[in-house]
Amino acid sequence: MASFTLQGIPVSRGITIGRAHLLRPAAMDVQHYLIAQEQVEAEVSRLQSAIAQVQLDLQSLWSDLPTDAPTELGAFLDVHVLILSDPMLSEAPLDIIRTRHYNAEWALVTQVDALSAQFDEIEDEYLRERKADIQQVAERVLKVLTGTAHQLPRALGVDEQNANMIVVARDISPADMMQFRDVAFTGFVTDEGGPNSHTAIVSRSLGIPAVVGLGNASQLIEQDDWLIIDSDAGVVIVAPSPLLIAQYRDRQALLIKERKKLSKLKKTPAITLDGIEIQLLANIELPEDAVAAMEVGASGVGLFRSEFLFMGRTGSELQLPTEEEQFEAYKKAVQAMKGRPVTIRTLDVGADKPLDSSEHNILNPALGLRAIRYCLKEPQIFLTQLRAILRASAFGNVHILIPMLAHAFEIEQSLAMIAQAKQELLTDGIAFDDGVKVGAMIEVPAAALSLPMFVKKLDFLSIGTNDLIQYTLAIDRADHEVAHLYNDTHPAILQLLDMTVTAADRAGIPVAICGGMAGDIKLTRLLVAMGFRELSMPAAILPEIKQEILKTNIGLLQVATKKILRTYDPKLIQELLVAMRSQEFATN
Ligand code: PEP
Ligand code: MG
Repeated sequence: MASFTLQGIPVSRGITIGRAHLLRPAAMDVQHYLIAQEQVEAEVSRLQSAIAQVQLDLQSLWSDLPTDAPTELGAFLDVHVLILSDPMLSEAPLDIIRTRHYNAEWALVTQVDALSAQFDEIEDEYLRERKADIQQVAERVLKVLTGTAHQLPRALGVDEQNANMIVVARDISPADMMQFRDVAFTGFVTDEGGPNSHTAIVSRSLGIPAVVGLGNASQLIEQDDWLIIDSDAGVVIVAPSPLLIAQYRDRQALLIKERKKLSKLKKTPAITLDGIEIQLLANIELPEDAVAAMEVGASGVGLFRSEFLFMGRTGSELQLPTEEEQFEAYKKAVQAMKGRPVTIRTLDVGADKPLDSSEHNILNPALGLRAIRYCLKEPQIFLTQLRAILRASAFGNVHILIPMLAHAFEIEQSLAMIAQAKQELLTDGIAFDDGVKVGAMIEVPAAALSLPMFVKKLDFLSIGTNDLIQYTLAIDRADHEVAHLYNDTHPAILQLLDMTVTAADRAGIPVAICGGMAGDIKLTRLLVAMGFRELSMPAAILPEIKQEILKTNIGLLQVATKKILRTYDPKLIQELLVAMRSQEFATN
């Protein structure tokens, strides 16, 4: 096979060489074939048993619902059971197999398409939206039919021929990425996704080479093809020659050696040449990640993306973690960090982080009901989480961080909910840290433009640059079609950062950056020269950023920084950024 190279968007670091493991296409995208007359009844019973299996699954989900689960969850499952027992779904596809000789998957999808078209005609919006439920139920049946309910690489990272496994997919949801954490694989390649999509974020935090936004890689690459991923360059080389593989193996070895050298800095504090200490913190998605944070010597966790505890929970459409489960998870992270601060961000679901994959069918875009908006609409879910976080605060140094705040009433209501959770715990006689600090994420331009509203009420700020860029520049961070417009040094972004650090300093409260900019070595000098003293990033990147800080003299950067903040010329900004990293400023 001839070798070819694909160019995508780099989202993490390093090089990996291995064989492609293709994830099957989306559930509704099924095989179509005609079956022989004598196979008809076998095909009918194949579909019948898949339907029966899903009925059983739904029933056991029902009986496993925790007692404190919101009542809507039961109702949700009821609807799915009803849909599945309706002859329109349980009988009609069987007739299609009998009359048209379609295979079971095709027959089911044909019937679902017909039903969906009928639903589109319905005037009543509520009823029209039930189309999504039908599709979700059908997807469940399809997953049983195609055996893709739990689709993970068949080998644990290494195949029979001792090659590393690289996952290739059209897209991987953040929830699926979490499953991959338990199954070692050494790289991933996707057709979709932007530089700060949540899938990209998880790959960075796992420290795994990845390239996203490749367009149609999953169609061009075949199962077991040899691949080289050069993450830094955003390049995937398909079917490379043995000579190229050897060259990349050398580069890979060199990178590993450099990383080992950096690990010696673990205990060195991140102090600039002119004596200013920068707190380098880690972003984590699951409590277990705290181990990696400690390994690189992070001074704490600056962002615990708690929603990953809630997403893609197997088996159920909406099986949320209980207070007890959450408490154990938060406590685990807090204890692992041994007294260092752990900033737990409250549930930030929605947009590209749906609560479970079936929600992909529900419109919930970035401008919709996500993060704090969702929590304030679902006060019981929010309260349960706040109680769990507060309980964990008795075991270490916990901060609470609220995502996506934009309105004064959202701040008020969030603080009121925290007060209510505290009151409940007091009444129940359960210990918590009454002095727990509460902070706001600044990730909506409205927040950065109304900072007095925030600094008065909150103990600290943390800038989510991923969303701040998305909302300021009006580009969907997960959409590769607009990834070229994702510009973290756009003057508008730099102004908003500058306004935030200035307002926080004036108010005397700490301000951190926990979005992707904090882990971008090209920006480290600019950010510290602008006055940021806390940067939170994926643990894998932290040692490199520390090394950069150790070679930085903030005093020498002031003139260039002022110039960057004053200019609206993107070219000049880039030139000044490059100059800032030059030898002149890298005084040793
Ligand atoms: C951000 O928006 O920059 C951020 C840190 O939060 P998330 O990436 O999880 O949206
Ligand atoms: Mg965000």
